[in-house]
Amino acid sequence: MKSSSFNIVILGPQGSGKGTQAKMLVKKFQMHHLEMGGILRRIASKKTTLAIKVNRIINIDGRLLPSKFVIDILKQELDKLPTSRGVLFDGFPRNLEQARALDKILKLLNKSLTHVFYMPISHQTTIKRLAARRTCKKCGRIFIAGQDMQRNIRQCPVCRGEIYHREDDKPIAIAKRLAIYHKRTLPVVKYYKQRGILITTSGEPSVQKVAKDIISNLV
Ligand SMILES: [Zn+2]
Repeated sequence: MKSSSFNIVILGPQGSGKGTQAKMLVKKFQMHHLEMGGILRRIASKKTTLAIKVNRIINIDGRLLPSKFVIDILKQELDKLPTSRGVLFDGFPRNLEQARALDKILKLLNKSLTHVFYMPISHQTTIKRLAARRTCKKCGRIFIAGQDMQRNIRQCPVCRGEIYHREDDKPIAIAKRLAIYHKRTLPVVKYYKQRGILITTSGEPSVQKVAKDIISNLV
């Protein structure tokens, strides 16, 4: 299979490292990276009524946005992309309704999903990893405190933007989001498993080891 025909979904709880693996795949196979969290944060950063609503839902309540809204955004994003390259879906779908909608949208574009990578990790690993995660308000880059940067740095080393601990990376929000995740996303995992396109690769090992596992399924 040519890498240009890859259409990949990457699933995993917060802190599973799926964002890092998504970036690796996008670079290696020159895919389009459709990262739903980033798209929503971009919308939330504007000063519109919609932005205020989105911001409240994703940052404060730790809830999920209504599927219809997310599906509309996805349609708009896919319409913008040239059809010649594969797409990597990161942070989407979050529930069965979105998974079914994604299949329909792709079918209209004469595409279909080729691989779904699921990266499970334990609850403890999620908590541990997210406690150290910091985000740049300006460019959205993610850093691991004590690893990518010193613990108390407040300015992004890349763009000088403000570094912060996202509300949804804090323990109370994590617990809420994990509960939502298990309830909504596990049926999605099952759905793809039944279709025979699910590949489970644990997110517990090192970034390099996980990357190797994922790539071995694609080449
Ligand atoms: Zn930055």
